[in-house]
This record gives sequence, C-alpha cells and structure tokens, in this order.
Amino acid sequence: MTCFAVATSDSTEAHARLREIFAAFEGDSRPAYCVAGAELSFAVLFDHARALGQRLHEQTSGGRHKPVLIHGHKDIRYPVAYWACLLAGRTLIPVEPETPASRIKQIAETCGASTLLIAAPGGTDLSGVLSSTSLAMVPVPDPLGPIPEGLRDASQTDVIKDQDLAYLMFSSGTLGQPKGIGITYANLVDFIDWLDVLYPENIEMTGVSGVIRHCFDVSLFELWMSWTRRLPLVALDHADFANSTAYINRLAEQGTSLWVSTPSITRLFLTNRRFNAGQLPKLRNFVFCGEVLTKKIVTALFERFPGCRITNTYGPTECTVAVTSVDITEQHLQADQDLPIGAARPGTGLEVAALADDLPGGELLIRGASVGAGYVGLPEKTKAAFPEAGLYRTGDRACLAKDGLWYFAGRIDREVKIQGVRINLNDVETHLRNLPGVEDAVVEPQMLRGVPHALSAYVLGVRALADLQHLPATLAAELPPYLVPRYWYADFPAGLNQNSKFDRARLANAAADARLRHIHMPSSVAKIAQEEPA
Ligand code: AMP
Repeated sequence: MTCFAVATSDSTEAHARLREIFAAFEGDSRPAYCVAGAELSFAVLFDHARALGQRLHEQTSGGRHKPVLIHGHKDIRYPVAYWACLLAGRTLIPVEPETPASRIKQIAETCGASTLLIAAPGGTDLSGVLSSTSLAMVPVPDPLGPIPEGLRDASQTDVIKDQDLAYLMFSSGTLGQPKGIGITYANLVDFIDWLDVLYPENIEMTGVSGVIRHCFDVSLFELWMSWTRRLPLVALDHADFANSTAYINRLAEQGTSLWVSTPSITRLFLTNRRFNAGQLPKLRNFVFCGEVLTKKIVTALFERFPGCRITNTYGPTECTVAVTSVDITEQHLQADQDLPIGAARPGTGLEVAALADDLPGGELLIRGASVGAGYVGLPEKTKAAFPEAGLYRTGDRACLAKDGLWYFAGRIDREVKIQGVRINLNDVETHLRNLPGVEDAVVEPQMLRGVPHALSAYVLGVRALADLQHLPATLAAELPPYLVPRYWYADFPAGLNQNSKFDRARLANAAADARLRHIHMPSSVAKIAQEEPA
C-alpha cells in the first residue's frame, strides 16, 4: 500500500498553493479561455475573479463559507466565477443552465448554499427558485467590461483549511435525490500535483481542449492544465456540438496540443474527417476518462495522429477525477485483452476486496489523498461507500494483471439473473465491442413486470439492418446461448449524458423510437438460449 501524507486538520497549504497558481495570472495578456466569439486573458481573469472573490468574501460575514452555486456553462464568466469562489474559500457547485429550477432548489437545500452566481446568459427561469429560498442571486459581471467599482483588495481572505470543501459535484443519486460529492482543497491540490507528473514541463504544451461540461469533474483536467501551465482552453459550447468543424478550426487557431475527453465524445469527433494531424498539427496528447476506452478508438487516433500519446485514466468523482493512468502502446492493442486503466497515481493506493463469485479480480478499493470527503448530508450513504476516512469502495470490478497494470471489468451491480442464470452484462458488452463493424455496445436487461426476462443489445456503428442481422449468430459462435441478447437495436442517435458518456439511461426510451432499426434474435438461437441455462 502506498503511503501518503495526511494533512493535519489545521493545515492551510492547499489554499496557499491555489493562490500561488492564481498570482501568476496577473498581467499575463495571453488567452486563458476562448469560446466562440469571446476570449478571456489571464490578466482579465485575474482582475475580475479577484473583484468578485472579494464580493463573495464580504458576503461570508453572515453565513461563513456557505457554498455557492455557479449557474453557467461555457461562457467566459464561468472561470471568473470559479476562481472567485476558490479565492473566497466558498465551496463551489457547478449547475448547468438547463437544470430545472426545482432541482437547483433541491441542490441548494441539500448543501445549505447561500448564493447563486449567474455565469450564463439565458438558461432556466430562476424566479421560482429564488422566491422560495433565501439564495442571493449574484450576476457575474461581463469580464470584457470594466471591473465593478468599490471593491477592496481581495488578497485578505479567511484562513481556508485543507479539509474544507473546495467543490461539490452533484450526481443523480437514487430516488431522485441529488447526491453531492465533496472534494476538499487537499484533494484538489493533490490532483493538480498529479498533472505535473503526467505532463512534466519538458512535454511541450500549447493549448488544451474544453469539450467536457463543467458539472462533470473530468473538466478539471482541462481547467487545471490550462491554469497551471497558462495555456488557452478552447471551450466547446454544447449548443455547437453539431458543428465540429468550426470547433476543430478554433483548436487549430489556438495550437491546441492536449485533447481531454470521454471515449464517446472522441467517437463523435472521429466522424469528422478533419479531425486529424493535418488540421491539428500540434495535437499530440490525448487523455481519456469516464468510460471504457476501446481499441477501435485508439487505432483510429493512431492512424489520424501518427505518433500521438494516448493516456487512459480511470476514476470516480468521489476520488477527485481519476486515480490511475497508462499510456496506451501498440503492445496493448495487440494483446488478447481489453486496454488497461493503468497504475495508481502517486499518493493513492488500490486494492481489491473479494466478491462472492469465481470471476477474476474483485471490488476495487481506493485509498489515499485522492479520496474525497463523502456525500453532503447523507451520513449513511457516506458510511457505506467510505467505510473509513480515506477509503472508498468503487463498486467497480477490477483485476491487477502480471504487467503491473489494473484492468477494469465492469460495475459489480451490472449482474442480473435471467431464468436463474447469472449474467454479467459487462461480459456481453465486451464481446460485442470486439465484433467487426461494432464501435460500441450497451447491453441492458429487458424488464417484464419488474423482473429481467431477456437481454437487449444496443449497437453503435452498425447502420444497415442486414449487418445487424448477422450479429446474433456471430456472437453465438463465441458465447453460450444464454448470453446472446434476444433484442437488437441499431441506428439510433448516440446521445450523450451530462457527463458526455454514452447515455445508457435513454436507451430504453430510444428503443420505443420508430426510427430505430431493431430485430429479434433468430428464433432457433432464442430457443437454445431458453433451453440451456447453465
Ligand atoms: P463518474 O463518477 O461519473 O466519473 O463515474 C465513475 C465511473 O465511471 C467509474 O466508477 C467507472 O465505472 C467508470 N469509469 C471511469 N473511468 C473509466 C475507464 N477509464 N474505463 C472504464 N470505466 C471507467
């Protein structure tokens, strides 16, 4: 187990480190954050964040360090709001503009937030939220305008302890109750320090992509690479997702050298032929997180960007973005197994807890400086997932292989029983992904009166019905019949969820969509499947 230094409860080094990063912005006129039609320099970010930070700081006298919701997306006001919260030592909570007002209210009540920073023009009508809460609404002034008058020097802040919460990320949780994952300043700085290890100064960096929504913590790769190395971040507004060519042109203009994404986002960009080294000669580094990275994506990137570096990382939001990494090589591609998720980052230890089955590996446990503070206001859920301070149970199955690298083997809660047979959905997905023509696949149980009764396969990359029809038999040649899905769907819009991952939750609804091509498995195979539960 790796040792790690636990900050004492009164330590304040983490916030000092953040202020040091921020201090370097002063007077730097290079672009920090670019969206279509607007650009924010580091110098302007410095001036405006300081002023707004002071305003937030003054507010704290009545309700010290109460969290602040940042209502915004990719506007240039967003980084100003973000830094203002950090400087004032106020826990920040990103909230996307399209979030329903009722949910914003729920989030604010769950964490006791006192302020809503409006960092986006338009978006949800918030009047309903504000009339029934005591949230103070503070519009973030346009950073391209003058700095609001009358604000004192923001350098004097309260003492911010390493164990105070830097941010909260809300995920959906069960029963519709939003679950706020708390990450401390110590966690955040530990992540920032890891970036220096992943991309040391001798790796030339000229700019970073900005395709991840801010409510998904993988965006911290983008933001903090930009801020620690003072690189332009080229933000993609999701409203512009359809126009990937315009975005590729903007990346080229800024000389972007690092691409951060989920595999699903990259798959979308690979459909644009201009996503290649000819258009983006400086783009040499790719980092992935959040979902299974497939060999097909890596192969396509090696073809489009010869000699590029592709890093796979893995981690849950509860452990500050990501906890493992590995650079993918030709050897990994040729190996007869999935791609690795890598080795633990410094200060983090990984181990497995045995599971009650005979499958390889076990539940992955994470220990160390990356492990967050738990779920705000949910002591029982926190106790279950964080059985002790600095230890998190991921709910993921993983194995440590002889090559010293960890391999992800799916969620442990993705096992279902159909007609008495235990089926690991992940196992079926893995086989499907490797079939010719299949770019990605999701397998879900079809429910009948609340009980799983058959498997459905949703296949990306296959468009023609004739091609889809071949897949059940091809899969049946590799797997026992009870693992071959009964229902097959293809040619549906590959929707992304808020975290830019393949939207599994929407698939069942998509299945009802008439545009979907679907087949039932040939009855002969279906019959075998029913007769042969092993
Ligand atoms: P989130 O908290 O939304 O970031 O989701 C974390 C979960 O995403 C993990 O527990 C894994 O199930 C999955 N995940 C993250 N990174 C990877 C990866 N590189 N490969 C496979 N699954 C991943």
